[in-house]
Amino acid sequence: MTDRELLNQALIAREAAYAPYSGYRVGAALLSVNGTVYTGCNMENASYSATLCAERAAFSAAIGAGERAFRAIAIAGGKGRKADEKVAPCGVCRQVMAEFVDADFAVIWGNDQVLERHSLEELLPFAFDRKNLED
Ligand SMILES: [Zn+2]
Repeated sequence: MTDRELLNQALIAREAAYAPYSGYRVGAALLSVNGTVYTGCNMENASYSATLCAERAAFSAAIGAGERAFRAIAIAGGKGRKADEKVAPCGVCRQVMAEFVDADFAVIWGNDQVLERHSLEELLPFAFDRKNLED
């Protein structure tokens, strides 16, 4: 699966976004090492702090299905009907990714014209993760 194909899956997932407060709609597509794609969209809440990002929704779907090994995630988003912004994951989502992936896991975002690919290590250097808790 190409980065563009994975981003297209994120765009499709974005259609289900529930964002009545910000209007900022995001979709994510998470590729497992087995080639299965798990998707998620953002889900806002009137309490704001209960809002869930698309990236964590995709991880939740994958973990719930028993997946534990991942290659990449693509993220697509923007205000309203447009998905033309380059959306990087928030800090909480970066931390969640660090729980389940290796440093070379790819994080992809972009729009119709541009694609960016970064390693999680670039996005979250010196992460606190499961290795910190090993004996
Ligand atoms: Zn997030």
